[in-house]
This record gives sequence, structure tokens and C-alpha cells, in this order.
Amino acid sequence: MRKQIAAANWKMNLTYTEGQQLLAGILENDLGSKENHEVIFAVPFPYLIMAKEKTTTLKNYYIAAQNCSNKKSGAYTGEVSVDMLDSIHIKHCIIGHSERREYFGETNQVLAEKVNLLLEKDMTPIFCCGESLDIREANTQNSFVETQLKESLFHLSAEDVQKVVIAYEPIWAIGTGKTASTEQAQEMHAHLRSVLAAQYGADVANEISILYGGSVKANNAKEIFASPDVDGGLVGGASLVALDFIEIIKALK
Ligand code: 13P
Repeated sequence: MRKQIAAANWKMNLTYTEGQQLLAGILENDLGSKENHEVIFAVPFPYLIMAKEKTTTLKNYYIAAQNCSNKKSGAYTGEVSVDMLDSIHIKHCIIGHSERREYFGETNQVLAEKVNLLLEKDMTPIFCCGESLDIREANTQNSFVETQLKESLFHLSAEDVQKVVIAYEPIWAIGTGKTASTEQAQEMHAHLRSVLAAQYGADVANEISILYGGSVKANNAKEIFASPDVDGGLVGGASLVALDFIEIIKALK
């Protein structure tokens, strides 16, 4: 059964103390966890060890980095390598967030390199894809997102591609308060799964969790997650408020 996942993306928010308080506020509520549920906190690099320590004893709770380098090691000032993350026992990493693609020039090719480095270390890439408003208005979102997947993931074997979590995040819904409708989200998630099925077969495609991201809130998560091909969410703003993120965790199927 594929995983249902609530993933928090703190982005570049919160001081260390605020981060500690937020985590404590969420974790002190014993939410338990169903066998097929995962809760992931993608926190800023300097908070990874602290967050990891707070969650080590909790089942199905994980800490993720928000990015990693596409280089193995060496003279790349300011970069953080996959090996470094692995050495502090971080097992998940977001890659290809639209903010990194837009502001830091990340290409599908660079993301293919990151995927390879992460999988070499048995880490889970949380691979983001999604179209801009222009592309949605031109109604070419399906082929655009398909190309993102093909160019970054389709060199992988069937065994490896199943280790990837995909997050569909339409750029026009990120931080705008405007979510994709449940129909738009389900339609794109079903499309992504059919593209994966065409390449790898339906059994493989059915194992891959596809999260929705873009203005997921406490009051809309249940409806969005209810769609058959939506396996939870990657949450920005609402993950910074303990009570809101708790509701989002509870909304998982
Ligand atoms: P918001 O939930 O703030 O729209 O952000 C979504 C996102 O970018 C998560 O990665």
C-alpha cells in the first residue's frame, strides 16, 4: 500500500527557538500514526540535527533537507552534499522546488544528478514538479509536467523510481491562497500516474506517492487528500502553525 504523507516545508522561515517550539507543539500531541502514514518536516539546514533528535523515537516521523548539492564533494562554497546529510542520518530531501528552479536556476538535468546522488545513499528524493500560470492558461500543463518527470526521473530503474516521492505543486497555487480545485489536482495526479505507468507499468506507478502542494490549509486538506491519486500534501505556510499542521496530518486518508 503506498504511503500517505504530510510533509511540512518550512522554507526560509523561523529562528532556531521558534523551530524548536513549533516541533514541540506538534509532537506533544500524540497523533499516533497509522501504518501507511508518514509525517515529514523539511527544516532549514542548521536545524536538521535538532529536529532529528526530537523525532528519532517516533515511528513514521522523518526530517528532510530542503535541498542538496548536485556535486558529490569539493570546492563548492556554501553547498551541502548528500553525503553530509547522510552522515547526520537524514533520509529525505526535497529537490526541484519551484522556488529553487526559479530563483536558483535548477534545471531538470541538475535534478537528475541530485536524484542519483540521493538514491546512491538510499535516501528518498521528494521531487517537486508543477506548472506556472502561463502554462496552465495555455492548457499545456500535462505535457510540461510530463517533461519534468521524464528529464529528471526516467533514467531510473523501476526499482529506484519507486523510492521517489513526487510532489505536484502548481506554481500559481503556492503561497497565493488559491488551491487547485480537487478536480484539477486529481486530474494532474492521475495524469502523472499514467505517465509513470506507461514507462514502468501500473504496479510500479501504484506504489509511488504523489503529494499535492499549494495553499493546503487545515480547512481544505481533507477534501484535497480525499481524491484517489492524491497521497497527502507538501505544505508551506500552514506548516508553520502547530494547530494547523496537526489538522493537516489528521486529514490523511
Ligand atoms: P504554501 O502551502 O505556502 O502554498 O506552499 C506550498 C509549497 O511550496 C510547499 O513546498
